[in-house]
Amino acid sequence: MVKRLLDLHSGRPVWSAYRAPRVPTSRLARDVRCDVLVVGMGISGAMIAEALACDGRDVICIDRRGPMLGSTAATTALVQFEIDQPLSILSRKIGRAKAERAWRRSRLAIDNLQARIAERSIDCRLSPRPSLYLDGNVLAPSQLREEGVARAHAGLRADHLSPSQLKDRFGIAGRSALLEHGNLALDPRRLTAGLLNAARERGARLYSPVHSAGIERVGDRLATATLGGPAIESAAIVLATGYELAEIVPASHHRVVSTWAIATRPQPRAAWPGQAFIWEASDPYLYMRVTHDGRIICGGEDEDFQNEEARDALIPEKTGTIAQKLSRLFPHIDTKPEFAWAGAFGTTSTGLPLIGRVPHHHGVFAVMGYGGNGITFSQIASELIATAIAGGTDHDADLFSLSDPPGA
Ligand SMILES: Cc1cc2nc3c(=O)[nH]c(=O)nc-3n(C[C@H](O)[C@H](O)[C@H](O)COP(=O)(O)OP(=O)(O)OC[C@H]3O[C@@H](n4cnc5c(N)ncnc54)[C@H](O)[C@@H]3O)c2cc1C
Repeated sequence: MVKRLLDLHSGRPVWSAYRAPRVPTSRLARDVRCDVLVVGMGISGAMIAEALACDGRDVICIDRRGPMLGSTAATTALVQFEIDQPLSILSRKIGRAKAERAWRRSRLAIDNLQARIAERSIDCRLSPRPSLYLDGNVLAPSQLREEGVARAHAGLRADHLSPSQLKDRFGIAGRSALLEHGNLALDPRRLTAGLLNAARERGARLYSPVHSAGIERVGDRLATATLGGPAIESAAIVLATGYELAEIVPASHHRVVSTWAIATRPQPRAAWPGQAFIWEASDPYLYMRVTHDGRIICGGEDEDFQNEEARDALIPEKTGTIAQKLSRLFPHIDTKPEFAWAGAFGTTSTGLPLIGRVPHHHGVFAVMGYGGNGITFSQIASELIATAIAGGTDHDADLFSLSDPPGA
């Protein structure tokens, strides 16, 4: 079923420094049945499975690798409501009303995710963080001001910091910024493991390694063939396969690029005030955050290709550039990478993900949590899909439609 199998990441992501709870899975030894089959046990599959299990559905999850071994292991986990695509630019692409709705839904998703983590008592080192959005070659200082006005119009007011205010408060020279509040720093593996284990406690069955190899409709049910293994029968299927898109999922709006990241040694006292997320209105952009123990994670330098050999060969050069740029912003920080890694990264032209029913395949849903807001979009996906499977309508579903994406 998978159209492209990717080598999703390489090098040493920082999360390998921290323990995550074990997620026990079984071997699939015989044919099984369920209400909903979730394909993929990254953060998207985990969020969907837990939401469906909470709704009382009989859920099976499979993964061809195992839990948390795809892109979720390589993320830098700045969980932001601020969509990579500035509101002022997104408005030009899909219209102001829809763009504002997408931004507000993203804000709501962050609040919902925070409440969900608290309710389930998932220890994922969650910490609310402010964020600084610096001017750059995508938004010059005057355009950054306009972005602030656009956000205020949508009810998402940010503080504008002039260069002198930014220098005084954060020590960053020669730039202006928008200061927002309420984004989330967390450990993505601990969150994913927590959700998968919460789904298990509600009866979800987890199998790996199991590679879904094709879907067939049999009467009013769906039959999923697995590579060299038994079949899985279900009423619905959710394809949460990350950047490895299934053949039946329309791929025309989807692009996979390459990205790089580093993490330094722990240096909590070197971090900037509030340990704000910092990111730039630039292409390629630079972004950074601080882990719970004071490592600085910094990433970016994206390139518009997905050749994995070329990507991996560039790890020393790209991570060196990232360290230099970090050093230019904060000369007192020790920027030597203790961890350096590269990954595949999915994007769309609008920066919005595609979530919902797969056209012409009744009962099959796909979740593609793209780009720098992937984790926020996984939360939105879990809300939309759980509602659709329950027979309801989410009034924001049109923003993420696979058959008729806005701005296409
Ligand atoms: C370097 C980097 C930095 C990032 N930074 C951020 C960030 O700061 N903030 C943010 O929100 N997002 C960020 N992202 C994006 C975020 O990591 C992704 O959106 C998210 O991890 C995707 O999760 P997923 O569950 O959809 O995919 P994955 O974690 O890749 O999980 C999909 C799973 O599906 C399985 N699978 C695929 N095909 C099949 C099949 N046929 N049968 C069975 N199993 C299958 C795979 O084995 C995989 O485990 C970043 C990504 C990278 C690489």
